[in-house]
Amino acid sequence: MKKYLILGVALLALSCKSTKSDLNSEATVSKYMNTITSDELKKHLTIIASDEMQGRETGSEGQKKAGRYMISQYEANKIPFPKGAKDYYQHIPAAFLNAKYNENLPDSENIWAFIEGTEKPEEIVVISAHYDHVGMKNGEIYNGADDDGTGTVALMEIAQAFQKAKKDGNGPKRSILILHVTGEEHGLHGSRYYSENPLFALDKTVADVNIDMIGRRDDPHSKTNDYIYVIGADRLSSDLDKIVREQNDKFIKMDLDFKFNDRNDPNRFYNRSDHYNFAKHGIPSVFFFSGVHADYHKPGDDVEKIEFDALTRRAQLAFVTAWEIANRTEKLVVDKSGE
Ligand SMILES: [Zn+2]
Repeated sequence: MKKYLILGVALLALSCKSTKSDLNSEATVSKYMNTITSDELKKHLTIIASDEMQGRETGSEGQKKAGRYMISQYEANKIPFPKGAKDYYQHIPAAFLNAKYNENLPDSENIWAFIEGTEKPEEIVVISAHYDHVGMKNGEIYNGADDDGTGTVALMEIAQAFQKAKKDGNGPKRSILILHVTGEEHGLHGSRYYSENPLFALDKTVADVNIDMIGRRDDPHSKTNDYIYVIGADRLSSDLDKIVREQNDKFIKMDLDFKFNDRNDPNRFYNRSDHYNFAKHGIPSVFFFSGVHADYHKPGDDVEKIEFDALTRRAQLAFVTAWEIANRTEKLVVDKSGE
């Protein structure tokens, strides 16, 4: 009897151990990376970029509807809102949205979800994308499938992948804050609001991985969609730059294009999406982007034109980058000036 009991305990211990994997092993990372699928991205984007959302103008009913869909998916996946928040919303008053450029926007909301870290929960990795777009003009709906429906659905899939890992006992060591920001098209307002009213101390916020438009290809890449522009990774942290390159070499193997990271590039994309509001506070930030196209800020930015194979791989690159930042022993070094 005793002997069997000991054997039973030993087996139980063994089975517990087998669920907790080495978080650095390629097999473990690949397992969760591969839960980010083209089918699910397409399912979500078909809804987020549908006419029903009326172009997701900041503060509009269409945007709020898209937000409710996102929240319904977090709830279905049992991914909670962050500790210290009352719900999935960070409310932003109209006065804040309108102060900078004298606009006339209504109140709006950032939306957030949270996967609490297992070892260093107070250290936060932000993964951001804006879910607003430009709404309707002259009766035409600007669906913003690429801008930034792709980043929006990438975040939903990345969150689900981290949550699955957590459920298996392989949750991230640092906490993941999924941050869907509003008001980007009017001047990066939602991310600025978060950076001025952070839920978690900015000095414990170790990185921002930002995704804005990753579902199409631009003219210089007309022959292949197997690329991504990487912007900003080396401005504050040599670790972050190295991680993006190494994770891509290990898991994705797409062409990393650093053209728009050139300090003299006239497009100045580094200053033009939400990561900038983290970078300006000294937080290492990387911006993933697949470039502009003929439908950029036009009514033709529709889901039919999204290349889901590329979207999937780019979302997976963002995931494996965040995974490494969240799970490595040392937090990212800040050893650069930000220039
Ligand atoms: Zn955008």
